Amino acid sequence: MTSASASPTPPTDAQKLLILRHAEVLVTMDEQRREIPDGAVVVQGPAVAWAGATADLPVTYLDALKAGRAEVIDLHGHVLMPGLVNTHHHMYQSLTRVVPEAQDAELFGWLTNLYLLWARLTPEMIRVSTQTAMAELMLSGCTTTSDHLYLFPNGSRLDDSIEAASAMGMRFHAARGSMSVGRSSGGLPPDEVVESEADILADSERLIARWHNPGRFAMQRVVLAPCSPFSVSRDLMRESAVLARDKGVSLHTHLAENDNDIAYSREKFAMTPAEYAQDLGWVGHDVWHAHCVKLDDAGIALFGRTGTGVAHCPCSNMRLASGIAPIGAMRRAGVPVGLGVDGSASNDGAHMLGEARQAMLLARVGHGPAAMTAREALEIATIGGAKVLGRDDIGALAPGMAADMAAFDLRGVSHAGAWHDPVAALVFCQPGQAALSVINGQVRVRGGELVDVALPPLLQRHRDLARTLYDAVRHPHTAG
Ligand SMILES: [Zn+2]
Repeated sequence: MTSASASPTPPTDAQKLLILRHAEVLVTMDEQRREIPDGAVVVQGPAVAWAGATADLPVTYLDALKAGRAEVIDLHGHVLMPGLVNTHHHMYQSLTRVVPEAQDAELFGWLTNLYLLWARLTPEMIRVSTQTAMAELMLSGCTTTSDHLYLFPNGSRLDDSIEAASAMGMRFHAARGSMSVGRSSGGLPPDEVVESEADILADSERLIARWHNPGRFAMQRVVLAPCSPFSVSRDLMRESAVLARDKGVSLHTHLAENDNDIAYSREKFAMTPAEYAQDLGWVGHDVWHAHCVKLDDAGIALFGRTGTGVAHCPCSNMRLASGIAPIGAMRRAGVPVGLGVDGSASNDGAHMLGEARQAMLLARVGHGPAAMTAREALEIATIGGAKVLGRDDIGALAPGMAADMAAFDLRGVSHAGAWHDPVAALVFCQPGQAALSVINGQVRVRGGELVDVALPPLLQRHRDLARTLYDAVRHPHTAG
């Protein structure tokens, strides 16, 4: 990251500038964690060209504005911040929210109920559910997301979700999930949703060659992500790690989610989840694990030492009564921690700023009022997530960083009286939708609405597909 006072490159006619100015506060998340009153950001192409106080805007940008070579957006009453980074999701689950049979179960019972529906997913369902989930995230200030897709029934492919992300204009880390140990082999999922390990590895290689972009400001990266210890073999975990390192892509899975998960690990592998991860080569800066609610002290120390990341999913952990992840201890040990909304069937809302709020509140339930500040929650949700995904080009607003940002209007009723600290108000008060979102230099949300996507027809199709999916399993006699 370079300093905000670096002299700006004069804009060319070909690159129209975007100037955001008069933000109530600009939250930079830069190395000094500066918060700038009456802040401004200049966007040139996909990157931030300048960030600072509106009064200090360099004259070259003001000249560009006068000459009609810049668009300006006024952000009085708004907090402008780096776009939020979602490190764990299962977007297809937006079709199976609030399924009555899975409302009140813990993880294993919840999964067993839902596998039956998920086995009937189609490629169109993957596309429409991914776009819907991304619309929800974008409207909550999220600009980069990962999605962990681990079943591919009826001809579905990871390409379906990557193409959906591309249509939405969202920065995307597509995690190629997999399940290979079905019920007949002692795993949890039914046999019809598991794949052969040879097919999984071959498809992983194909996807990396087709879609993975290792470059700066990449909009698409591929991640290898066998689903969980109870649905894939040790061999697949090891071979995925070997392939990922050969190709330079990241690794992601679920780990240490609840007490049953720990018991499974002890019984099947005679190891804690952290020992299992280490044994398989699943630690390092290129690995992040979802949940880690039950990561023990030795596991926390191991993850801190090796730079192994964690996707914290507070709403899901509460929804499934999994427990309170030891986030404070992890951060003190140097573990990179990001935030994840988790799948839409275990967190039936996917509001990234709302998730940051729940992270702060849940930490306090477990460890007292000083356990997490509002600013720490915002840090985890932005630069923390960037680090977990292995990126140094997102998560902060400074020259040379990707132009990914969101603005929230604090002039509504839910923030009334909170002007003493607008930044903390983002987390303490009930969050609304993002008023503005910019991704890779493009305005994607304006006036609280998606710019490029007609939401009503998307939601209508999503509603129809969700009903089809549910009725096929739960009311087969009435399904068409
Ligand atoms: Zn998950």
